[in-house]
Amino acid sequence: MTGKTVLILGGGVGGLATANELRRLLPDEHRVVLVEKNPKHTFAPSFLWLMTGARRPEQIAQDVHQLVRPGVDLLLAEGQAIDIANSTVQTSTQMLHYDHLVVALGAELAPETIPGLAESAHTFYTFDGAAKLRDALQGFGGGTVAVVVSALPYKCPGAPHEGAMLIADTLRKRGLGKKTEVHLFSPEPQPMPVAGPTLGEAVKQMLAERGVSFHPLHKLTRVDPDARELAFDGKDPLKYDLLVAIPPHRGPKIARQAGLTNEAGWIPVDRTTLRTQHENVYALGDVTAISIPGRWKPDVAMLLPKAGVFAHAQGQVVARRIAVAITGTGEQDEFAGDGYCMLEAGESLSGFAFGNFFAEPSPQIELRKIGRIWHLGKVLFEQWWLAPYGMKRDVLGWMLAIGSKMFGIPIVK
Ligand SMILES: Cc1cc2nc3c(=O)[nH]c(=O)nc-3n(C[C@H](O)[C@H](O)[C@H](O)COP(=O)(O)OP(=O)(O)OC[C@H]3O[C@@H](n4cnc5c(N)ncnc54)[C@H](O)[C@@H]3O)c2cc1C
Repeated sequence: MTGKTVLILGGGVGGLATANELRRLLPDEHRVVLVEKNPKHTFAPSFLWLMTGARRPEQIAQDVHQLVRPGVDLLLAEGQAIDIANSTVQTSTQMLHYDHLVVALGAELAPETIPGLAESAHTFYTFDGAAKLRDALQGFGGGTVAVVVSALPYKCPGAPHEGAMLIADTLRKRGLGKKTEVHLFSPEPQPMPVAGPTLGEAVKQMLAERGVSFHPLHKLTRVDPDARELAFDGKDPLKYDLLVAIPPHRGPKIARQAGLTNEAGWIPVDRTTLRTQHENVYALGDVTAISIPGRWKPDVAMLLPKAGVFAHAQGQVVARRIAVAITGTGEQDEFAGDGYCMLEAGESLSGFAFGNFFAEPSPQIELRKIGRIWHLGKVLFEQWWLAPYGMKRDVLGWMLAIGSKMFGIPIVK
């Protein structure tokens, strides 16, 4: 058997999971090459704690070299072009050949696609943005805060709701509760529509109890930075004092240019195997479009949410499938659509939603009672995810496995 090369594009959540699992499974004669443009990996769920001041930037970032299993060839470079016909990828430093390709490039943020948004809005959807927003919240003197989901789809269906609750909590702690209103606008009909009406009502109640007014079916069309005013399609405009946006998302340019994407710019894949329409080419995580059962509008199909929990599980499935294809041994694996999400509500409390997103006729998601234990679970996961390969990571991994067994949560290993 001659050595094969598996090339993984993108070393975020899904790419790291894929590379590390492949290196564990494949004999040494096969290469696992991971191409990542950013030498620093940042843990996105903790951007919210960076925003509130509960974390410093260096606590939620890690040198990407520390996060790859020994034996993974990490290339710090930008992927520039994928040539499917010739099984090559051009990067900013060299041309690479592959036998198996995994596209794990995530989603790009495109605030410039809504007039006025880029120059007027803060965001907790990026590492730098969350740090700047922390300073803005510390300097805020009270008034109207607008948190706006500016377009669909966006990553992590829980994050805008968590962000709004944590902003309200931060301003309350600063003594600005009575002088401040926090509004959350979304084009969706309810919070987290993918999880169904019961969970949506429960999240609405969580928001209301924490002083956040939720405004469904508000599609942002324009921002007037001078007048500090938001315009919505068919709804009244709103004057704001502080604007926080979840910017529009789009598929990465090189995937679009390679002809891998659908009209909306995302890569369609088989939902259980993560195969694209091209042989030996897989895609996973935020870059994909995966239809799931259930609809909230007759003309709009529901898509599997873009979330790290899925990227992580899909990475492990893809790694195992490629390992079986190369070695001819081992068990095939399939992605089953299970996922979970901790919903930070402030005061070290968190809700916990989990379930199966492929269930018929629509996803079956449960919300557990809000409590400190889910918050602690999120902290433990953060510590494990960012720990360098070695003993500390192993110990944290065992603690996660024990905790997930005790509370019956399907946390990915
Ligand atoms: C504020 C916030 C909170 C969140 N909270 C949660 C949560 O609680 N739970 C949850 O499950 N998910 C959460 N998410 C979502 C989660 O972070 C993403 O869904 C997850 O990171 C997707 O993984 P991915 O591998 O598909 O993409 P990413 O993790 O984004 O990785 C893509 C990687 O590709 C690299 N890349 C892109 N283009 C190139 C190129 N041309 N060449 C080389 N490298 C490239 C990028 O630098 C990046 O490292 C949150 C997201 C945000 C913003």
